[in-house]
Amino acid sequence: MINRKETKKVMIGDVGVGGNEPVRVQSMTNTDTRDIEETVTQIKRLEKVGCEIARVAVPDMKAAEAIAEIKKQIKIPLVADIHFSADLALEAIRQGVDKIRINPGNVKPIERIKEVVIACKEKKIPIRVGVNAGSLEEDILQQYGNVATAKGMVQSALRHITILEELGFEDILISLKASDIERTIEAYKELSEKVDYPLHVGVTEAGTKFRGTVMSSIGIGALLYAGIGDTIRVSLTDDPVEEIPVAWEILSALDLRHRKPTVTSCPTCGRTEIDLLKLTKEVEALVENFPEKLHIAVMGCIVNGPGEAKEADIAVIGGKGVGLICRKGEIIKKVDEKDLLTEFKKELDKELKSDLSKNLK
Ligand code: SF4
Repeated sequence: MINRKETKKVMIGDVGVGGNEPVRVQSMTNTDTRDIEETVTQIKRLEKVGCEIARVAVPDMKAAEAIAEIKKQIKIPLVADIHFSADLALEAIRQGVDKIRINPGNVKPIERIKEVVIACKEKKIPIRVGVNAGSLEEDILQQYGNVATAKGMVQSALRHITILEELGFEDILISLKASDIERTIEAYKELSEKVDYPLHVGVTEAGTKFRGTVMSSIGIGALLYAGIGDTIRVSLTDDPVEEIPVAWEILSALDLRHRKPTVTSCPTCGRTEIDLLKLTKEVEALVENFPEKLHIAVMGCIVNGPGEAKEADIAVIGGKGVGLICRKGEIIKKVDEKDLLTEFKKELDKELKSDLSKNLK
C-alpha cells in the first residue's frame, strides 16, 4: 500500500496536481514551438495516448506569441518552459498559458520576477521551479566542492521557492532532476521533508527508449513507492509520444492508476505450446482502448498456466492444439487453438461490457 505524502493542490488549467488528485502524466514537445501546426499535431498525438499536461519550450518571443493559437487547438493544459526572461514569461501569460516553468532566482533584476508573479497571481497560473543538477548556481556548487550534490539541488530549489514566497506567491510546483537515480531520489526525498508543494518527478537525460524506460521506471517508481510525486514525466531521447505509455505502465505497475487493462504474460520456456508472443500482442491490441482496471494473463502451457494465472481476473492459456480460458484460476472453457482468441474475446466482452469484435484484427 502506497501512502502518498500530502501536498498542496495546484490547478494547471482544469487539471489538479497534488492534494488528493491522481498522479498526473505529462510530457514536453520537441517541435519548434513557433511552428504552430507541428506543435499542435504533436500535442494531439500526446493527448491521444494519455498525456494530461503538455509543455513547450519558449526560447523567443515568436514562440511565446504562438501559445494562444496552440491552446485554441488542444484540449490539455499547456505549460511554457522559460529560461531567464521575464518578457517571455509575461507574454506567455498574456497568451493564456496554464503554467510557467521558470526559476525566479535566474530572472534579474528581482523587480522583473515581481512582474511575473503579479501576472501569474492575476490569472491564477502556477509556477514550477525546475532545478536540474547540470545547471546549479555557481555559489552552491562551490559550497559542495564544485559537485552538483542532492543537497545542493535542494538548496537551490529552496532559494527559488523563498523568492516566490517572499512575494506572497505559493502556487508552486517543484522538480529536482538529475541524470542519475541516486541523486534524483535523494534530492526529492530531502525536499519532500521540507516543503509540501506538489512535486513534478522525473529522471532527466535518461537516454533513448530502452535505457530511458529503465532509468525512469526505477527513479520515478522508487519515489512514487515512497509516496513522493504528484506528476511524472518520463524523459526519452525519442518522439515524446513514446514517453506516455511508459509513464502509464509505471503508474499501473504500482497500482496507482490504470488507463487500460493490465496484460501479464509468462516468459515462455521449453514447455510453451503456442506462439505466445503473437497471442499476447493480439490480446494487448484487443484491450488497448478499454479504460477498465482488469488483470488479464496470457500463459504458454496448460501445465502451469492455470495455477500461475490464478490471480488474474481472466486468463487465456495456450496448449497443444487446444487452449483454456480461466477466471481467477478456474477453468471455464476448453477450446480449439484456432478458436482461442475468439472465445477469449467473448469472455472479455462480459468483463468489459463491450463488443470487442471491432478490435479484433
Ligand atoms: S506458464 Fe508454462 S510455458 Fe509459461 S513459463 Fe510457465 S511453464 Fe513455461
